[in-house]
Amino acid sequence: MFIDGRFTGGNASETIRVINPATEEVLGEAPRGTAQDVQAAVAAAKRAFDGWRRTPANERAAALHAVAEKIRAHHDDLVRLLTEEEGKPIPENDEELWWVEETFDYYAELGRHQRGRVIPSGEAGQFNFVIREPYGVVGCIIPWNYPLLLLAWKMAPALAAGNTVVIKPSELTPLSTLKMIEVACDHLPPGVVNVVTGYGPKAGEPLVTHPDVPVIAFTGSLAVGQRIASLAAPMMKKLHLELGGKDPMAIAPDVEMEMAVRGLAYAALINAGQVCTSTERVYVHESIFGQFSEELADFVGKLCLGNGLEEGTDIGPMIRDRFREKVEAQLSEAVAAGARILVGGRRPEHLSRGFFLAPAVVTGVDHSMRLMREETFGPVIPLMPYRDFDEAIALANDTPYGLGASLMTRDARLVKRFFEEVRAGTIWINDPLTDNFAGPFGGMKMSGLGRELGQEGLDEYTDVKHVHWDVEGGVKEYWFPY
Ligand code: NAD
Repeated sequence: MFIDGRFTGGNASETIRVINPATEEVLGEAPRGTAQDVQAAVAAAKRAFDGWRRTPANERAAALHAVAEKIRAHHDDLVRLLTEEEGKPIPENDEELWWVEETFDYYAELGRHQRGRVIPSGEAGQFNFVIREPYGVVGCIIPWNYPLLLLAWKMAPALAAGNTVVIKPSELTPLSTLKMIEVACDHLPPGVVNVVTGYGPKAGEPLVTHPDVPVIAFTGSLAVGQRIASLAAPMMKKLHLELGGKDPMAIAPDVEMEMAVRGLAYAALINAGQVCTSTERVYVHESIFGQFSEELADFVGKLCLGNGLEEGTDIGPMIRDRFREKVEAQLSEAVAAGARILVGGRRPEHLSRGFFLAPAVVTGVDHSMRLMREETFGPVIPLMPYRDFDEAIALANDTPYGLGASLMTRDARLVKRFFEEVRAGTIWINDPLTDNFAGPFGGMKMSGLGRELGQEGLDEYTDVKHVHWDVEGGVKEYWFPY
């Protein structure tokens, strides 16, 4: 762990064994942090807060640019470690790391841009302004699927705004986080950044309930998000929650087939479908349904499944066997209820080790099936035909989630209806799963609270204070006595 500027085993008497999901071999170990370790990390972060918040924004900007530079200097090592620890192919981790580096640069600049606004006075003689202030210690709780990216989207704006952080990485992927902090944060004052490794109940919950942690920034599952919200509610903590999704894609009859097939395969199968914004439900116009499903199954059947370290691998393993079993259960329930698997959905025979699942294309599905209602988080593309666009929009909205939604069409009238009527935090037209630093990312409905990236992603880490200043300081006629 990393507490108060140094690496330590803390109070942990046990370790977590980190497994490479492509080989099932032990990759390394990390301490199983305890409540005492969280206490120590929060105390260090609290001590560091006063100095860090008073550090001029330009100096904080330079420190964050240095974080980005140091990560760049270890780019290839970190990419490899990410692939060994999480499984996705090298090109995807190369992109993850690029995003991490750029996120630190982006918030380094945004953080020195403004601190609030001056507003017209409410009373003669007054000067009124709004200042945005850091909260203090931010607890960052991170999942395994984009361990460094989702950390950077919290850590960079939190630090840029003058907060200090205590990070709890996923127990499945602590090594890349520890490595990144080791190579990139040695110039920061002790306590500004701290890492406590361990499991959710033993290391995550003490952070959520700690009275000196006013903000919890969490990315993960809906169930854990609900648990965190219930623990934090009595303390009125500021919550930033990026939760799950069941993202739809609608495919209009005018699409160019190759674009739609390859775009959908990317949207549904990147990181073996283990993306919060993976396309997990697809509605295809009935006039092209037959041809589209055949071409998609043909394309998906040719994708190369394998160890992400090997060149030419399109799709890596799933993170653990229990996640694969959940996907298999959803698939077999759907088949029992009448669905048809056109391709994939099986463990590949040529890969005897690793948590691999051949990507599946499924038809004959409907919304009574868990496969179309619950988050799958695996390499499965279920296709359902629709008759008219009203039906496509109704189906897209038929979910408690609201993270992202995609549409493939060149018809501007459909585009306008889609982005106005579908309830989701991100809408993609013809280019699914792209990000943009300048714009917010996050969910509506049960997909979360708050936004990452953009100005919104910085504002999450500042509280607002309105200052009324009567500059002259005279007695007012509206005071007592009446
Ligand atoms: P998870 O909810 O199981 O775990 C996330 C983190 O929370 C881990 O660090 C875990 O140790 C910790 N945790 C678990 N129980 C806890 C508790 N009781 N108190 C405090 N912390 C606790 O999620 P996961 O399996 O790591 O990640 C996959 C999930 O994350 C999916 O549901 C996915 O949709 C979601 N996700 C969302 C986004 C987004 O931006 N909306 C991005 C990526 C992943």
